[in-house]
Amino acid sequence: MSWENNVRRVVPYTPGEQPKVSDIIKLNTNENPYPPAPGVQKILDDFDIARMRLYPDPNAEILVNALAETYHVKPNQIFVGVGSDDVISMAFLTFFNSEKKILFPDVTYSFYDVWADVYQIPYQTVPLTEDFRINPDDYKIPNGGIIFPNPNAPTGVLESLDLIEEILQANPDSVVMIDEAYIDFGGESCLPLLEKYENLLVIQTFSKSRSMAGMRIGFAIGSEKLIKCMNDVKFSINSYTMNHITLLCGAETLKDEAYFKSSTGKIIETREQAKKKLSELGFVFPDSKSNFIFASHPDYDAGAIFNKLKERKIFVRYWNKPRINQYLRITVGTPEEMQKLFSALEEILAEGQ
Ligand SMILES: *Cc1c(COP(=O)(O)O)cnc(C)c1O
Repeated sequence: MSWENNVRRVVPYTPGEQPKVSDIIKLNTNENPYPPAPGVQKILDDFDIARMRLYPDPNAEILVNALAETYHVKPNQIFVGVGSDDVISMAFLTFFNSEKKILFPDVTYSFYDVWADVYQIPYQTVPLTEDFRINPDDYKIPNGGIIFPNPNAPTGVLESLDLIEEILQANPDSVVMIDEAYIDFGGESCLPLLEKYENLLVIQTFSKSRSMAGMRIGFAIGSEKLIKCMNDVKFSINSYTMNHITLLCGAETLKDEAYFKSSTGKIIETREQAKKKLSELGFVFPDSKSNFIFASHPDYDAGAIFNKLKERKIFVRYWNKPRINQYLRITVGTPEEMQKLFSALEEILAEGQ
């Protein structure tokens, strides 16, 4: 016997690269190119370090209340965590405890299968259609739960509320989680469906649309019953997941709706221009409603383009995986960053294969 026989072994998630050098164009992890709301700077400037002696509020009330006001729900319908990765992981642990398999798309956020593995949850991936869409009929089979992002990642494809409702109607006995990490870039949130479905959990994050990936703030909104279950699990593991500064900064950024609308608006505009330019260069892509474009070129190998961009210090995301190994996921940056990307792509395509 060795301790090594009793290890929980997992193949971990691989996050996108965070290169240490500064003069790069970073379009590989869907970060927001614009800074957080300006009020956040003042919170940091005014912070008294004496406050650090004390534990933070385990109920994260200042942030939970600000979220409740912003999204017009009750505070006890909100769960907050250290990025939506923490929130989704807690939701898996809380709700996916069936012998039946949970379902998620074959092409999707590559953390889902990792959480399923680490928590030993049986799962089955459901192939997206040829054009990367969800067929709701595929989710009308016995299951232990359902999760998918809307818009999906890494495809950027947005599904309708009707499709989500059709899946909810067919699955009253499962918790259905919709990961809305990218919903603020032009999609319609399924939050209104909460009125009808007590088994719906909607998950969002401050990492993309609110420019706070480095602060780690995510949240889930659901029925009071679901949120109570999640909090019971959380308080059985770590009461103090959210630190004091993060709570203050998160609550502050929610106050500045005008800034939020303007920075997401800029990204949407740059995305629409990028679609035109990429088409002109011969790329094809599913229509994106997120802050990235999932593009493929019929005449050039995606892995080769990825490497040539990297040589030019332009980072995008590439997965050498079935179905998607001819695609690049390109985060929408500032117009200037996108211009540099297009110039580099023009050069690379001109070089030929
Ligand atoms: C970025 C992302 C998340 C996690 O973001 P956090 O930074 O942990 O909030 C969750 N789901 C999807 C689909 C994402 O792309």
